[in-house]
This record gives sequence, structure tokens and C-alpha cells, in this order.
Amino acid sequence: NTPARDRLRIAIQKSGRLADPARALLTSCGLSWRESRDRLFCYGESLPVDLLLVRDDDIPGLIAEGVCDLGIVGRNVLLEQGYDRVVNGNPPAFREWRALGFGGCRLALAVPDGWDWQGPEQLAGKRIATSYPASLTRWLAEQGIDAKVVLLSGSVEIAPRLGQADAICDLVSSGATLAANQLKPVTTLLESEAVLAGPAEPLDATRGELADLLLRRLDGALRIRH
Ligand code: ATP
Ligand code: ZN
Repeated sequence: NTPARDRLRIAIQKSGRLADPARALLTSCGLSWRESRDRLFCYGESLPVDLLLVRDDDIPGLIAEGVCDLGIVGRNVLLEQGYDRVVNGNPPAFREWRALGFGGCRLALAVPDGWDWQGPEQLAGKRIATSYPASLTRWLAEQGIDAKVVLLSGSVEIAPRLGQADAICDLVSSGATLAANQLKPVTTLLESEAVLAGPAEPLDATRGELADLLLRRLDGALRIRH
């Protein structure tokens, strides 16, 4: 139960692939900020809309806790944490409000070059390394495949070479990293891009009006871009 706020707070990635395009998009919506010295919090000047600069993985949780009202994050991260909440019996808390058209990538299953890929059945009994355990587990269940999910926080693509796993499930954009590790993508689990995430429940009146204003400007900005 956070105290009522009359300013809107948006979480974006502090540094990384989504940081600059997220800020540029919000700037194109007429927002401007006075930056704090530690660069974690930016005070909104043109509108009462502040930014919190964080790690992308923290964004869904910040919305769930009500620390932030909105966030810009990859759909891959939002869905992964959403599935994880469901598995653990937590209410949804956040959802995708808008697709933003940048940060495109896909969550793909990749197997060693030498495999003669016939279909998901081939994964039965295999070990699959990933940083997206909830998304992979859900997909395996949908396919009716019993495989072992090996959770790795990074360098997933070298796991098969190290003998830690037989296949991987990871984010892919160009496929160059996979090829460098003698892997080939065989199935896409999820098409991702940056999204505006918001709470599953409506915001209160003041912040709701600010969010509506932002959404109208955002939709205008997205229309001009496409
Ligand atoms: P942080 O320090 O914030 O945790 P990170 O290393 O987790 O950063 P980035 O590598 O900057 O995150 O990726 C952020 C998002 O960019 C991803 O979650 C994904 O939605 C998107 N993305 C686009 N292309 C790629 C790619 N080739 N590899 C990884 N992520 C990509
Ligand atoms: Zn991250």
C-alpha cells in the first residue's frame, strides 16, 4: 500500500539495448526531465511524469509492487515473469499495454548444427539450457514434451559445447552468435519487441489521466513512425 502519488512514474532500462530508444520515444511524446546526479531518477519537467532508470529485469516487479506505474521492457521479460507469477500462484499484476516497434528479437530453440531436426519430439529426455525457464517450461508442456530445463543466467549458447545441455532456448536477432557456437535455430517460441507495460488493474484517477494523455501521444508518435 504505497501512499497516493500525483505524478506518473515510468521505469526504463538504465543502459542496454532498450535504454536510448525508450527515452527517445518518450521524448517524442513531449516529455522532458531534469536529471538527478546519480542518474537513477529523472524528474519530469514538461509534465508530472518521472523516469526511474533500472535493470530491465526489475521492471515487471516494480510495476507489480506499485513502485512504478508503467515501464518499457521486452515482451520476452514481461511474459517470462508473468508466467512465473502464474506458476507460483500470484495474480497477473502487469500486462502489455502497447507494442513499441523497436528491440525486435525472438526467443528460439536452437540445436547443434549436426542434428537432423524433425520436430519437438526430438527434445524428449534432453537437457535444454535457458535464461527463460518459465517460457520454455510452458512451451514444452504445450508440446507434450518431457525435457530437462537447465537454468543459466548468461552465456547460454556455449552450454552445448561445455556438455551442460543438449540444446538451448535463447534470444536471437541475427543468429550470428548461434552460428559461432555451431548451433542452428529450429523453432520460435516467442516473437518479441519492446512494449509499454502497465498494471493489470486501472490506475487511480490522477495517474490514470496522465497515463491516458501519454497513451494518446504515444499512439500518435507510433503512427508517424510506421
Ligand atoms: P540489464 O543490464 O538491463 O539487465 P540486459 O543485458 O538484460 O540488461 P539487453 O541485452 O540490453 O539486456 O537486452 C534488453 C532487451 O533487448 C532484451 O530483453 C530483448 O527484449 C531485446 N533484444 C533485442 N535484440 C536482442 C538480442 N539480440 N539479444 C538480447 N536481447 C535482445
Ligand atoms: Zn536484464
